[in-house]
Amino acid sequence: MVAMRTLLTAARYLGPAGIVSQPWFLLEGATLVAAGSRGSAQAPAADRRLAFPDSTLAPAFFDVHLHGAAGHDVMEATPEALGAISRFLAGHGVGSFLATTVTASIDDTLRALSRLAQLQRQQQPGAQPLGIHLEGPFLSHAKRGVHRPELLQPAERTLFDRFWQAAEGTIRLLTLAPELPGAVELAAHATALGVRVSLGHSNADAETTQRAIRAGASSATHTFNAMRALDHREPGILGTVLSDQALFAELICDGVHVHPDLVRLWWRAKGPQRSILITDAMRATGMPDGTYTLAGQTVQVAHGRATADGVLAGSVLTLDRALTNFLRFTGATLDQAIPLLTTNPATMTGLHTAAPQPGSPADFTVLAPDGTLQATLLRGALVEPS
Ligand SMILES: [Zn+2]
Repeated sequence: MVAMRTLLTAARYLGPAGIVSQPWFLLEGATLVAAGSRGSAQAPAADRRLAFPDSTLAPAFFDVHLHGAAGHDVMEATPEALGAISRFLAGHGVGSFLATTVTASIDDTLRALSRLAQLQRQQQPGAQPLGIHLEGPFLSHAKRGVHRPELLQPAERTLFDRFWQAAEGTIRLLTLAPELPGAVELAAHATALGVRVSLGHSNADAETTQRAIRAGASSATHTFNAMRALDHREPGILGTVLSDQALFAELICDGVHVHPDLVRLWWRAKGPQRSILITDAMRATGMPDGTYTLAGQTVQVAHGRATADGVLAGSVLTLDRALTNFLRFTGATLDQAIPLLTTNPATMTGLHTAAPQPGSPADFTVLAPDGTLQATLLRGALVEPS
């Protein structure tokens, strides 16, 4: 049986190589098989046409920092939880994500990692988890946020190796406080395994941050949040994150975690190739205001804020809203902004999902000129915004 051929067209396509005007993409079933532009090649015949004549196509978004959504947390690590999260994300432009843990007991973490390793081998109904972002337990007590203090651990390679084995080598990103004893060595060890190291939940000074960069650290976790504040004589980790182009830098662009003025500062400092928009979303995302849990703690959600005892506890942000917020806060163009949710997280993690290629799943977002999500196309299936 021959798979249905779909021709996807739009006003423009913004991929890693830049802008293509009047693009066409030919899909066979779930797979992209050919691409071109109507200026240079005749669009092929197809059984079905998906035409978005006023829209911009972009690769589906990639969220490298997501704890949960739709009432579920990735650490539940059940097919139901992961399925609900994946379906929810598909309605918000997300094609792939890193299932992000929070600090839990060692046993609970090991259990979640091994179940996530199994679940990731199965096709999810929407966005695909591409691996695990281990956020905790190697974090600073001073900047732990809502991570429980009694469960934080020294940065020990032997413990990391147990996590690595439980996760069957699917840990792709490790958030680490570089000032912990052993952290610089652990950064080098994880980097040698192919894990990307992201500095965060940290009270480090600039010199320690530089040592971690030399050991291989390549990104910063939710810049400004759970991070030593800037001091103009001792710039600390934040000064290094903002000034050193060796580091990518995540940002939670909900207007709650970081003031719009400092979103502009971050954007000017990090620029189009090092900025990464994330959600840090927790299970209340997409759910009504009320009482939820994160990291074993009670979280109150009201008016777009999730807090535990007054401390911000993850977000209820979605990446499609992060994009429109970013455009509004900074005045950046859509063309400047799209790499922050596509190419940059793909480059940072080394997972080559920045854009659909012939032979790969046909995963796209369809965006209005103002950045509003109009549809997500995942493996050739159209998902309406939710
Ligand atoms: Zn965090």
